[in-house]
Amino acid sequence: MNPSALSPDQLNLQARARELAAGPVAARAAEVDRTEQYPWDNVELLKDAKLVGMTIPTQYGGQGKNWLDAVLAIEALSSACAVTGRIAVETNMGAISAVMAYGSEEQKKMCADMVLAGDKPAICITEPDAGSDANGMTTRADKKGNRYVLNGRKHWITGGGVSRLHLIFAKVYDEKGTFEGIGGFLAIRDETKGLKITKREPTMGLRGIPEAVIDLEDMDVPPSALVIPPRGLKKGFADLMTAYNSQRVGAATVALGIAEGAYQLALDWSEKRHQFGRPINEFQGLQWKLADMSIKLSAARALVHNAARSGEGGFPDMLMAAQAKVFTSESAIQIVNDALQFFGARGYSRELPLERMARDVRMFTIGGGTAEVLRNVVAGALLKKKLPQTRDGWDKV
Ligand SMILES: Cc1cc2nc3c(=O)[nH]c(=O)nc-3n(C[C@H](O)[C@H](O)[C@H](O)COP(=O)(O)OP(=O)(O)OC[C@H]3O[C@@H](n4cnc5c(N)ncnc54)[C@H](O)[C@@H]3O)c2cc1C
Repeated sequence: MNPSALSPDQLNLQARARELAAGPVAARAAEVDRTEQYPWDNVELLKDAKLVGMTIPTQYGGQGKNWLDAVLAIEALSSACAVTGRIAVETNMGAISAVMAYGSEEQKKMCADMVLAGDKPAICITEPDAGSDANGMTTRADKKGNRYVLNGRKHWITGGGVSRLHLIFAKVYDEKGTFEGIGGFLAIRDETKGLKITKREPTMGLRGIPEAVIDLEDMDVPPSALVIPPRGLKKGFADLMTAYNSQRVGAATVALGIAEGAYQLALDWSEKRHQFGRPINEFQGLQWKLADMSIKLSAARALVHNAARSGEGGFPDMLMAAQAKVFTSESAIQIVNDALQFFGARGYSRELPLERMARDVRMFTIGGGTAEVLRNVVAGALLKKKLPQTRDGWDKV
């Protein structure tokens, strides 16, 4: 990217994040993967470097930074450790950005304080029988007197078991049992009665962050826990999806960072490794691979940065965020796979980071909207139609 497109503050932020990534974050990445332990020490590093809660407005203790600022930090961190990059996503985008956009003053203050203290909020949408078709969720919130009582099961919840703050989506019913729409409720692990973490999923990659099953058993919250009210049929869900565009840009950024890290490793190795009496980068077959990798990286970076820029003063544009996530997640898988190939047998070894990167990067065509479903989002935007098979913008009950 043309560095002049970034402000001096952004260049400074990028340099700080790169330094952290190349130093302590890179040093711990393999251990985080091997032990499958959430890297609390990296959270402290991110806090000290002011890389959590950057996008929180200044009146709530944040820095009021924009999405591109967050993207620059996430990209740098993810090139060394995707888990740490994801922590930076979820402490700057996703659930926290939904609270900052739609929450009450009290909710904003509480959530900002928790995130700035190092909590990574969890966003709870997916259920065993409602994945891509999130509108099909069956978790319900029943109004009972001056309370809401939630029952249901969420799964694949990132941070389940380490996150305290949870933003939980449910179908809301009034006291007569009439469906009011989908709403989002705040709950706090170990404080909110009935919120139970019941299983950790054994994952292929990104092993330093738990993915959990969460059971809601008569989870009892006051109306003040409602961040995104149902607003009639599907409107609450539309609010969630608007906010979720920031998370999609964040997810694309982690994939971009992993690919960038893998590409740099391959580039360096291609000079060091000699076969047939010369560096392997003198073989045209590998030169073209490097060229293709760098072309994909530049295109992905442009899409991600433009999607981030489109959210100035609000949330990233849905079409741009979907395009960025589809292209970047798919390209990143190819780039990491090609980078691994440069190392021959060494690439297949757990002593090098390539195999970890290959496992980590595989997630990004799935979580946060699959590549197929995001293509539906793109097609819907192009055709100006609300397609029935997309998570976004379907207003039919
Ligand atoms: C590591 C990880 C972290 C996650 N974190 C969270 C989280 O924090 N919170 C949360 O709520 N969820 C989370 N998820 C869940 C994620 O959002 C879902 O996995 C995703 O939305 C897909 O749902 P599914 O897995 O049920 O797949 P399904 O919806 O069952 O899809 C199966 C396949 O069918 C395809 N498909 C489905 N519908 C269509 C269609 N209309 N057109 C074409 N193809 C289609 C899909 O693309 C996919 O290939 C996470 C997932 C992973 C892997």
